[in-house]
Amino acid sequence: MLDARPLRVAIVGSGPSGMYAAGHLLESPAGTFFEHGLTKRVRHPISVDVIDRLPTPWGLIRGGVAPDHLDKKKIASIYEAIARRPGFRFIGNIQVGADVSVSELATWYDAVIYAIGCDGERRLSIPGEGLAGSCSAHRFVGWYNGQPDFSHQTFDLQTDRAVIVGNGNVAMDIARILLKSVDELQKTDIASHALKALEKSTIREVVILGRRGPKDAAFNFPELEELGELHDTAIVVEGGSALTQLSSNHCNGTNLETLRALCARQRTGRRRIVLRFDTSPLAVLGGSHVTGVRVASEGVEDEIKCGLLIAAIGYRGTALPGLPFDDIRGTIPSHEGRVIDSGKPVTGAYVAGWIRRGPRGIIGSNKKCARDAVMALLTDFELDRLPRLGTLAGDDVLARLRQQVPGATSFDHWKRIDQVERALGSNFARPRIKLTSLDELLKV
Ligand code: NAP
Repeated sequence: MLDARPLRVAIVGSGPSGMYAAGHLLESPAGTFFEHGLTKRVRHPISVDVIDRLPTPWGLIRGGVAPDHLDKKKIASIYEAIARRPGFRFIGNIQVGADVSVSELATWYDAVIYAIGCDGERRLSIPGEGLAGSCSAHRFVGWYNGQPDFSHQTFDLQTDRAVIVGNGNVAMDIARILLKSVDELQKTDIASHALKALEKSTIREVVILGRRGPKDAAFNFPELEELGELHDTAIVVEGGSALTQLSSNHCNGTNLETLRALCARQRTGRRRIVLRFDTSPLAVLGGSHVTGVRVASEGVEDEIKCGLLIAAIGYRGTALPGLPFDDIRGTIPSHEGRVIDSGKPVTGAYVAGWIRRGPRGIIGSNKKCARDAVMALLTDFELDRLPRLGTLAGDDVLARLRQQVPGATSFDHWKRIDQVERALGSNFARPRIKLTSLDELLKV
């Protein structure tokens, strides 16, 4: 028999998958959807604590989405609406696995949804990868987005050419940011330290390396089209089979047609983007700093001179102590949203987002993924499979957390940070000026 007190759920991670899970649980009309009115069927009050390791919410929307994609960032208004639902609490600046353990959460709450994303980087594993001037997209994107983990980084942009390995959407984001004018970037929420560095940048050419041909490129069509909007920038395609495919009347498909159109339309410009296909990196070259990259194109070796090399080859999940982890896929093993250990579901533990499916998909993909986890959780609740003994009341959880982490932040704290950032930005006709260090954020 279920008792009448609210079902208490913790969601770890306040990025898209975590917030959609909260939206599903709290029946937010703001952008979520329910299959057969699932929460209505359960007919039970639900309270949700969304816990994040950063003092600020929204995960990749704040720290990953390219600053010039202002429309995408508006999705945060959906999450703000979810956060205003009765029963919602944001608790920031708490690192699960360090400040509070997985087993503590399991006893404090009826159920926990892990939506921690993929915050690790994949490595190229080639010689020279560790040289100064060579970095992962994870670091570079975190730096220009003012993510506190990466704000202290410095990048030398005093070079003619940057090479990006991988041609997914992250590579396209980075190429745009490297080549956009400071006037354009000024209108975005790019971190001020990055804006200053880009102001002094001498990069005139960005080479994007794809190890396969254009038909198999990882970028999406809109991101490719966006390259065509870059001012005064020539678009060039290189790589044997790519050129053959481009010039053949028999090779079609949206990406090829767009590439043909871009190359024809944007032949000249002060800056260049080179989309080089069928090319893999073999070694990063240089003494103490990157001077180039050795590549193989269809069996032929070649060198490309550059002073900055960014590996945009995807992200990777990291293990959370106390939970199973699939080291090969870099994900938490699961079945239909339930965490699985040695083939059996872990009672009261669910998973959603990139840490469940790997770093793939657009923001909207997380809606369905979060819904699966919520469906599994509510089904288990209905069937009385959740251990409800020992669950703490909301105030008791906060008291414990505050004891363990004196600097835990709330949704009101975030609103204050948001207000301060917007006010700072308005002095310079910018949407916001991000506070980029933990000290600054916590001071506010
Ligand atoms: P991605 O889409 O998986 O692209 C990774 C790229 O790196 C691919 O071109 C891949 O080549 C290449 N690669 C992987 N390992 C390599 C290696 N060892 N050597 C050379 N190349 C290698 O990853 P992402 O760009 O980081 O994006 C992650 C997810 O976020 C994607 O689902 C993406 O669509 C999404 N995202 C979306 C947006 C947007 O909607 N605007 C923006 C950013 C990111 P292969 O294809 O040959 O494996």
